[in-house]
Amino acid sequence: MIYRGHVVTPVAAGGWADWPDGRIDVDGGRIRGVGAWRRSRRYVDLRPHIVFPGLVDTHAHVPQLPICGVHPEDLLTWLRKWTFPLEKQFRGGRARDLSRRFMQEMLEQGTTTAGLYTSAWPDSVDACFSAADQVGIHAWIGPPLMDEGAYRPVTTKRIIREAEELSSLDRPKLRFAVTPRFALSCSEELLEACGDLARRRSLPIQTHLAEQPEECREVRRRFGRGYVEVYDRAGLVGPRSIFAHCIWLSAADWRRLAHAAVAHCPTSNVFLRSGVMEWRRAQIARVGFGTDVGAGPDLSVFRVARMAWTVHSLAGLTIGAGDLLRTATLGGAGALGFDDVGSLEPGKAADFIVLDAGHIVPAGAPEAESTEDLLSRILHRSGRSSIRQVYVAGRPVLGSA
Ligand SMILES: [Zn+2]
Repeated sequence: MIYRGHVVTPVAAGGWADWPDGRIDVDGGRIRGVGAWRRSRRYVDLRPHIVFPGLVDTHAHVPQLPICGVHPEDLLTWLRKWTFPLEKQFRGGRARDLSRRFMQEMLEQGTTTAGLYTSAWPDSVDACFSAADQVGIHAWIGPPLMDEGAYRPVTTKRIIREAEELSSLDRPKLRFAVTPRFALSCSEELLEACGDLARRRSLPIQTHLAEQPEECREVRRRFGRGYVEVYDRAGLVGPRSIFAHCIWLSAADWRRLAHAAVAHCPTSNVFLRSGVMEWRRAQIARVGFGTDVGAGPDLSVFRVARMAWTVHSLAGLTIGAGDLLRTATLGGAGALGFDDVGSLEPGKAADFIVLDAGHIVPAGAPEAESTEDLLSRILHRSGRSSIRQVYVAGRPVLGSA
């Protein structure tokens, strides 16, 4: 299949490619070629619309979608009062139904790769794997493991045994992620078992780190050492680990994260008034964006990228639209260790979205624009309503071809 449209993509080797009249050749769900238009007899004409890589959301909680946009409180109160009671219900038929609706909502926001948390119930993990498998996305999926203040009171040994069993779901496109919720939800024994399981089975690790000052103080009180050190000692800091938030960290902490990845979640951080991650320091690690639903208001990675622009601009740092949109695509893919998504290049999965040119470029704008101007418009003007179609592995999963 050949697609014709305005193709815009980051390039893994650096910079952006921009073909106002471009083509993408897709075969067997993969991109075989991409570039300027050459005559072809049969093709799908997407002109004048913009063909862009599917977005990557490196951090979201599937059970929390129903809570989006309400109850902004401090983190520890919000978790106890609103989040845990909601997650506790995420099992059985409800987990299956909400997992499917979550995937649909993600696609409508243009996301085709994600790092996801389910609930502490093992069947919520099966529900999420099958919903993700059905749409064909790339994802990390894991149940938040907790044995301190847990809404599902079972023994530490049982939690570990169940995680070990669930890890047989792991496969190249849908990874089972070892997911200690955060230090305060875990005993030292559980954290160490998580590190051990991930090492033995070469599994990825996702967790939260240094979101709010009170949380960091409580970690020090309980474990008698700093937050990063707690994770490091348990074998949780490495090249297959992603840490959400990373706001309250020292320069030494950042150096320890050099081989890890970070999920930057500024919409969530504004909502819960957590603070602003240090963008420059974070570049020592691999950085992607996270919506952190339900503390983030919705599953729009475009909104997260725009919020990053806003909070860092107000702090005196101007980040280019190209850098932010790269973080929303290739950056997130690299953070999750998926090297076959995040850009429209030969050999990669044909995961792309079609952005409505009429929504992105306002009436009366110059017909030919620089790539930089177009990227700025995409960053500042894209959202749910500008996404006309979504393709996963070359298949239209949203909107008709
Ligand atoms: Zn989170």
